Amino acid sequence: MLRLIRNGVTKFQRCSYSAQALPAPQESPNVLYSGVFINNEWQKSKSGETFQTINPTTGRPITEVQRGGKADVDLAVEAASEAFRFGSPWRTMDASQRGRLLYKLADLVERDASYIASLESLDNGKPYSNSYNVDVLGSVSVLRYYAGWADKIHGKTIPMDGNFFAYTRLEPVGVCGQIIPWNFPVLMFVWKIAPALCTGNTIVIKPAEQTPLTALYMAELIKEAGFPAGVVNVVPGFGDAGAAIVDNPKVDKIAFTGSTEVGKLIQNNSGKFNLKRTTLELGGKSPNIILADADIQHAVETAHFGIFFNQGQVCCAGSRTFVEDKIYDEFVERSVERAKKRVVGNPFSLNTEQGPQIDEEQMNKILSLVKEGARQGAKLVHGGERHGDEGYFVQPTVLVDVEDNNIIAKEEIFGPVQQIFKFKHLDEIIARANDTNYGLASAIISKDIDKINYLTQGIRAGTVWVNCYNVICTQVPFGGFKDSGFGRELGENGLQQYSEVKSVIMAVPNKSS
Ligand code: NAP
Ligand code: MG
Repeated sequence: MLRLIRNGVTKFQRCSYSAQALPAPQESPNVLYSGVFINNEWQKSKSGETFQTINPTTGRPITEVQRGGKADVDLAVEAASEAFRFGSPWRTMDASQRGRLLYKLADLVERDASYIASLESLDNGKPYSNSYNVDVLGSVSVLRYYAGWADKIHGKTIPMDGNFFAYTRLEPVGVCGQIIPWNFPVLMFVWKIAPALCTGNTIVIKPAEQTPLTALYMAELIKEAGFPAGVVNVVPGFGDAGAAIVDNPKVDKIAFTGSTEVGKLIQNNSGKFNLKRTTLELGGKSPNIILADADIQHAVETAHFGIFFNQGQVCCAGSRTFVEDKIYDEFVERSVERAKKRVVGNPFSLNTEQGPQIDEEQMNKILSLVKEGARQGAKLVHGGERHGDEGYFVQPTVLVDVEDNNIIAKEEIFGPVQQIFKFKHLDEIIARANDTNYGLASAIISKDIDKINYLTQGIRAGTVWVNCYNVICTQVPFGGFKDSGFGRELGENGLQQYSEVKSVIMAVPNKSS
């Protein structure tokens, strides 16, 4: 995503190619699929239960979705195991053909881009311009990137000692259980399935209960693209479906994006019945460090985008803005001015910058953390309340003079809440930036290359952005240090999470006869 600032309005596009003209949204897209998708067929849940998915802009239900539980997960895992059987159409398919299927899927997503983006905005509440430019076009980019890798995943020949010929094969891990979050529903669906399919795995994927609709539409596109039955199975559900995937001994690997709390449970349970490989992309409390030499307007805009993008529901959000004391007062004043200008409202209106939070629970959690942060001494200088009385909107909020021991300096708020801290020295700031269990992302805004290099090496985080924020790109690995998880998504590193290394050692006669 490259950030463009036009006429003071922040827009986003993918980093790899130029933005396309934004087609008009469909404000009431038809919901076409709401079932459990197993073996390329739509099914009702075994329990007969359904659940409602809610439109967070209004708080009203959109539709009933089949509630997949353990019985459905087990069927989906059987289908994925059969699709993975040695000799199956999927296992005997040329790698180049797997790539072609991924290219085809990318074309179908591009064909339906405005519908998918509209469905996403309906179910999740994010502004349509973001759904389209970031989530949907980002998905197309990731599908094409991994499509290209499919027939380029090489092992090595190794000059081993003795009369032997040795080589390695990179083979698929097997059945992958993937549990994805609600903040970037279709994009996270694609981040998970693309590298897994590129390397020849099969999949059981569970969308978040708040946002199942785009994942279910993607299932139908996967079928249309021509993937064999059982290769991708999608089980919507909540309450027990995630745990059923983790507990199933025929699942070889789990990939999860969500809270550190659930990530730890998954890590513990992934060794209970069999030893599942895990990749975990979890929470963050990322420092964004603004040095006094920075262009202040650029710093203010970058920090604003770093925390407020996607309603603040971003794992790598710059939720601790550290500002050098010499420019602190001016930075605060300008940041409040910027927050006041943030356009909050209907996600389908093209100038909207901020839609609703995902649900009532998240809205209430955000408001109570803001209240508690202020009680513990942070100064609330803007916002802090619900916006309007319909849906789950929160006012853009700014808290300043935040101390490191305040609850809002430690806990992930996951909302449109900027927290500004003051600092004096570089050494002090490295220690303070690292004083967290998290280590997902970080940023430095400065023109001083020596200070930038020094800080870049001192910060313990999976990404360091310099003079930019939230630039997440298909080709570049993304993931966390410490309690932000492990394993990397995107780029070549993303492939390693879905491959096993097999060493083949052949005796070679040392005589010709
Ligand atoms: P969450 O706790 O991270 O995850 C909920 C998901 O995990 C659901 O799909 C759920 O499936 C599954 N799950 C729960 N317990 C499980 C278990 N024991 N084994 C396997 N799967 C399990 O998300 P949340 O409750 O919606 O959000 C809580 C906080 O998480 C947010 O406030 C935010 O701080 C953070 N979050 C982070 C990200 C991110 O991008 N890193 C995204 C979303 C949320 P079942 O319902 O079927 O159990
Ligand atoms: Mg919803």
